[in-house]
Amino acid sequence: MRVEKSSAAIWLLSLASSARAFQPPSPSIIRRHHHHHHGAEGPFGEVVSPSKAAFTVTPLFSALRAAPPTDDDAATIQILMSDTGGGHRASANALRDAFNVLHETDPMRFPLPIKCDIVDIYTDYGPFPFNMYVQAYKIMAEYTFLWKWFYETGATPFGLWLYDVVLELICFGPFKECMTRVDPNNVVSSPGGGGKRADMVVSVHPLCQDLPLKILTSLDTDGASRKVGRTTPFVTVVTDLGGAHPSWFNRGVDRCFVPSDVLKNAALDRNVDESKIVQYGLPIRRGFWRFGSEFDMSGSDGKEEKNERAKMNKPAMRERLGLSNLPTVLIVGGGDGMGGIVSQAKAVGERLQKLATSSSTSYQMVVVCGNNKAAQSSLSPPQMQWGADINVHVHGFVNNMDEFMRASDILVTKAGPGTIAEASICGLPCILSSFLPGQEEGNVPYVVDNGFGCYQGSPEGIADTVEEWFASTRAEGSMLERMQECALIAARPDATLDIAKDLAEMLYARREELKKAKKVSAAIAVAA
Ligand code: UDP
Repeated sequence: MRVEKSSAAIWLLSLASSARAFQPPSPSIIRRHHHHHHGAEGPFGEVVSPSKAAFTVTPLFSALRAAPPTDDDAATIQILMSDTGGGHRASANALRDAFNVLHETDPMRFPLPIKCDIVDIYTDYGPFPFNMYVQAYKIMAEYTFLWKWFYETGATPFGLWLYDVVLELICFGPFKECMTRVDPNNVVSSPGGGGKRADMVVSVHPLCQDLPLKILTSLDTDGASRKVGRTTPFVTVVTDLGGAHPSWFNRGVDRCFVPSDVLKNAALDRNVDESKIVQYGLPIRRGFWRFGSEFDMSGSDGKEEKNERAKMNKPAMRERLGLSNLPTVLIVGGGDGMGGIVSQAKAVGERLQKLATSSSTSYQMVVVCGNNKAAQSSLSPPQMQWGADINVHVHGFVNNMDEFMRASDILVTKAGPGTIAEASICGLPCILSSFLPGQEEGNVPYVVDNGFGCYQGSPEGIADTVEEWFASTRAEGSMLERMQECALIAARPDATLDIAKDLAEMLYARREELKKAKKVSAAIAVAA
């Protein structure tokens, strides 16, 4: 152990000294916090003399940063988010996958690969307390009155203003560091902007608009302005569904993708220009795109075929998952397993057992507890013995939610935007068991108004609804079937790829502009 430690120390020392040998000869590979020719910016954008500007020279990293640029191999997008709830990262990953699929399946139209630098800017770059959002969110999601207060205060004009001011004061520097970083996963430099920055910035989080826009403007104008002169494209992709915090919407963005009419109106209310608002749907995981993982660019079938497919898949999916071919209820906790899943599962399980005894039909229940280990074990034997006439499967976190949804007839879930959008694509009627005040509140009318579900806050109410929906399946044109149709009508299985296509086109256009600018400046240099 001791030997290992000392050899590690020697290794580190030699690394440091060899890094010193690489000491950058020119200022271009010195990593500055601020631009030298304009001096640095103070907290409110005033220019501070260069002598006061902090210079950080980390030789090894500088040397690495000076690796030969590969500008023409790939375009880059930095995706800003924070892991408050699972949805933001899931959407960011979905977009990244979509770019890869577009490039692979249609290289004529999408010739340049697009690399995504996905970053939790608050956790990784925010000073305290901004780096505590993820933990705070988890606590507030349990004690919803806290969340309600935070959300509503933040949604008032004063709250919105105050947040932006405080954020700018404390986070301008750290966030700027983030937005000028080289993606640690793929060292690719951008040809524009004077630094190695992404060609485009996309926000998938409500608190990543105002300040990142100011920083981008400042970077594009070499620190001259935080208000005008931005040239790097900035886009918001809203990952809420039936309601959204006003901070999602900033009129300064180049484009704002919204998933629903309600959110389009919310964007208009916040003075986002109508020409900048694009409505496709929520970006979600590949398994939920049309044809799932057998995605085919040429496929453009109509609604009928889509419906057929969704129905056809059910028995096959059940077999694949080791389930019986029985009427099936799926109960899902959030990604973190919140939402009283134990009492819901018990109530539904008992009711299905009762129905099975009285009607001689069998039923099936699948419970997905997410990361809630306690819930999983209290719903599994030996702690739990389910009725003899029902088939119950209890899981922890599953990675194939699309398959579980396609195998089920009814979904019980909290009103998470991702889960609802996914259910709708699978033609799966929803019983919403809870919602976070604020952004999830609007997801209830979204489901109800689109005709594919209802809200039931109590375990007994949920069991009643399950019974009612299953009872109606025996009638011709049953309620459950109508709701399945409605879910499929509301579904947006092409949204992720549509958003990615638009973003790719914006990005390619930007690269062309930069290339032209480069040529012009080269020509000027030659002429001079
Ligand atoms: N999810 C999953 N496996 C699980 C539980 C949940 O993949 O075991 C996924 C679910 O499919 C959805 C996401 O977690 O995509 C939850 O997102 P949602 O927007 O519904 O809620 P959030 O967690 O963002 O509040």
